[in-house]
Amino acid sequence: MGLRPNLLTRRTAGVATSTLALLLSTAAVGVVPAASAFSAAPTGAACAEPADAHTAARVAKGGKAKHDPNELTAKQVREREADFAAAQRERAAFRTEAVAPLATVTIPVVVHVIQENSTRAGGNIPDSLITQQISVLNQSYAGSTGGAATAFAFQLSKINRVTNTSWYPIVQGSSAERSMKTSLRQGGKNTLNIYLGELSDGLLGWATFPKRTLDKMDGVVVLAESLPGGTAANYNQGDTGTHEVGHWLNLYHTFQGGCSGSGDSVSDTPAEASPAYQCPTGRDTCSTSGKDPINNFMDYTYDTCMNQFTTGQASRMLTAWNTYRAA
Ligand SMILES: [Zn+2]
Repeated sequence: MGLRPNLLTRRTAGVATSTLALLLSTAAVGVVPAASAFSAAPTGAACAEPADAHTAARVAKGGKAKHDPNELTAKQVREREADFAAAQRERAAFRTEAVAPLATVTIPVVVHVIQENSTRAGGNIPDSLITQQISVLNQSYAGSTGGAATAFAFQLSKINRVTNTSWYPIVQGSSAERSMKTSLRQGGKNTLNIYLGELSDGLLGWATFPKRTLDKMDGVVVLAESLPGGTAANYNQGDTGTHEVGHWLNLYHTFQGGCSGSGDSVSDTPAEASPAYQCPTGRDTCSTSGKDPINNFMDYTYDTCMNQFTTGQASRMLTAWNTYRAA
C-alpha cells in the first residue's frame, strides 16, 4: 500500500510537557526505575547511561495521560547527547575494518501480542494487522510515503501470542510491564521487540531509547488497535509504530527543546514551540527556521498528517545504530 487515506484526526490530548511524574528513568545500572526522571540521572560515573525515559509517542483522544512518556527534560537530553557523543568517539577509536559502520540495516522484529482473552476486545488481533504494520514501517523508513529514505528495513521474525490478565492492559512504568518484558524479550540489541495490547491511560505507545548495554526493558509498546486497520479512530494507520520505532532509533520529538537551543538535535527539522495536534494549516510557532514540521513522524499530528522523516533524522538514526545497536 502506498498512500494514506485522508481521514480526519489522529493524535489529540491536551498534553502538558512539564508533567514529569510519569517519566521513568533508569539509573546507570539500568535496573531500578525511579519515580523521578531527575533523581535517578547518573552524574559522574564514567560509563553512566543517560536517564532512560520511556517514550510515549502518543496519547489517544480522550485519554487520561497528561503527556507522552518520551518527552524529555533539557537535562535528560544533555545527558543523552553527551553519552551519544562519547559512545561515538569510543566506537571510532576501536573501529576496525571488521566492524565497519553499516550503511543499510534490516531489523528483525519480534511481535508480542498481549491478550486478556481470545476475543478481539481482549487483544486478540489478527496476524494481518501485524503484517500490515511491518509494511507501514518499511514504507515509512524507505521514504516511500514522502520523506527521506532511511537505512532501515524491517523483517518480521516471530509473532508471540501471550494471554496473561496481569499484563493487560499494559501499564506504562509498572512492575507488570517490567515483568512482561523480562519474561518475553528476545534477541540482541539489534532486535526490535514490539509489545501490542490495550494500554494504560489512553496512551498510544511508548519506547525506550538506545543504550550502550542491553536491558530487558528495551523495546516498543504500541496500542494494538493503532495498527493499520485497527479500531483506534484517527490513529489506525500504523504511524504510532513508526513514531515509537523512531525513538527506539534515537530520535526525539520535533518539538523537543521548543524554539531555542539545539531542539531535537537534528538540523533540518524546523523548531517548534510545542506539539502539533490533528493537522493544522500554516502552523509556525517559532520565529526562526521555517514552518512547524507537522508532517514529521516525530510530531503528534494525526496519522493522516504525518508522512516523513528528514535526511537529518535518517542520518542520526544510522549513526545511533552503528553506535548503540550494531553488533
Ligand atoms: Zn513520542
